[in-house]
Order: sequence, then C-alpha cells, then structure tokens
Amino acid sequence: MKIDWSGVNKKNVLRGSIAGLVAILLAVGFAYAWSGYRALVYENQVTREGVEALQVSLKEARDKLANARAENAHLTGQNEDLSTSLRSEQQKTGELQYSIQQQINQISGTVGVLDKLSKTDSELLAKYSKVYFLNENYAPPSVLNIDSKYSSDPKKTQQILVQVLPFLNRMLQDASAQGMELKVVSAYRSFADQAAVKTGYKITYGSGANRFSADQGYSEHQLGTTVDLLNASSTVLTTKFESTSAYKWLNENAYKYGFVLSYPKNNSYYIFEPWHWRFVGVALATDLHNQGKYFYEMSQRDIDNYLVKIFD
Ligand SMILES: [Zn+2]
Repeated sequence: MKIDWSGVNKKNVLRGSIAGLVAILLAVGFAYAWSGYRALVYENQVTREGVEALQVSLKEARDKLANARAENAHLTGQNEDLSTSLRSEQQKTGELQYSIQQQINQISGTVGVLDKLSKTDSELLAKYSKVYFLNENYAPPSVLNIDSKYSSDPKKTQQILVQVLPFLNRMLQDASAQGMELKVVSAYRSFADQAAVKTGYKITYGSGANRFSADQGYSEHQLGTTVDLLNASSTVLTTKFESTSAYKWLNENAYKYGFVLSYPKNNSYYIFEPWHWRFVGVALATDLHNQGKYFYEMSQRDIDNYLVKIFD
C-alpha cells in the first residue's frame, strides 16, 4: 500500500514527532528525577541515621572525657592535699627545731646539738651531675618561711632549710642596708614542684645538654639550701641580671653569708645562672672566694671536709 503524503504537511508531522519526543524525554527525565529524589531522600535518611549514630558515640566520648577529667582533677587534688600537708609538717618541725636551737644556743652559747646532727646529711654539700641527682623522695626535714618582704611575689610563700634561714636573712638585710633590694624568686622546691616547673624550663632552655643543666639545678633547690635571687625591679630569671649592681654585690659579699654561685660564667660544668645561689657554709664559701674557684670545680672529697662546719 502506498501512502499518499501529498495532503499531509510534512512540517506538521515533524512538529508532532518533536512534541512526542519532547514528551517522552520529559517523562523519562521526570522518572529519573523522581528516582533521584527518592534516592536522595533515602540517602538523606541513611546520612541522618549515620549522623545520629555519630552523635551518640560523640556524646559517649564526651562523657568518657568528662569522667577522665573529673578523675584526673580528683587525683591532682589529692596530690595537692598531700603536698600541702607535707609542707605544713615540714614547717611545724622547722619552727620547733628553730626554737629548740635558739634555746640551746642561749644556754650553751655554742653550736646546738641538733645543729650538729644536721651535719650528718652529706647531701647538703653534694655535687650533682649528669649521673648523680638528688633522690626524688628526698625532702628536707624542716623548712621555714622566708619573710614575704624578701619575696619577689609576696603572695607566694618561699621556704628554706631551717638552719639556712638566719644566714639568708642576714645577707638580705645587709644587702638592703647597702641599697641592694634582693628578692627571692624561688627557694625550696619539692620534687613535685619541680616536675611542674620543668615544663617551663623546657621552653626556656630547649632540650639536650641544656635540659640536663636545668635538671641539675633542680636538685639544689630540692635540698632546701638554694635561692634564686633577683633585684627588686625584675621577676624574670635572665642572664641580664649579671649586669646589675645587685649581682655585683652578691659576687663580692654572698660568701660572707655562706652562699656561692653554683654555675658561674664560662664554667665548664654548666650553663651560667647568675641568679642561682647555694648555701655551702661560710668556711667553704670563703675559701672558694679567696681561691677564685667555684663549688663544682672542687673534688667531692675536699668539699666533704667542710660538712662538719657548714652551719658555723
Ligand atoms: Zn635556681
């Protein structure tokens, strides 16, 4: 059969075909969009469930963290309690010992019995090194508060070994009388105190050899015989202290009160710490001063000879 196309407008046929095609395309597109939408809704739901699950585990993690923090705070609190009670015990013993010693000194006019006993502690004149630190359990039997007027931060209580306090007081009084206002930045530091300070030192000194240097200084503070001193106008431990008149005064006079600079400039042993003064007794400090030597340069055997007269 032959179709007679003559009456048919070819343009109309073409238009109709295009319209049909467009309709089909629209339908397919709509179906595709609809399935896409459904998939999106489903996906969204899955995502929402995932988010909810994540939120739950996040909350659990947060709760765990909060618990851990609370536990930690509790432990820290306990530690602080222990540290505080140790401090107050040391302080009480110190006051008692100090008053007994005063009485004995008054009666006999000579060095007290308790004073002699304290001389048996060989740590008081021990040299600390890379391999020899003061035991972390070491605590001086008795310490006393340093008068807050000598503290660089009056709100912070500084303590020192009971037998050393009179020497320190005399030195600070005499310095003040000569126009040098010396302030104690740090004195006795327990092992626990030091652990806290160490973080700060790491930042200041870095690592390696310097880190060791800082550790070495800690032992002397833990002994209770060492003070970090600065002039009244500064609070930061810096080698700039070297150029002050207060440092000059200490260099010329501290030995008279039994204090020596543990780590002088250009020493082969340790970094220079112009603020760090250790009590070694007047006899040893004077001999070191006269010989132009420093403590760590001397042999431990020679140093030990001075132990018996450390508080004379
Ligand atoms: Zn120091």
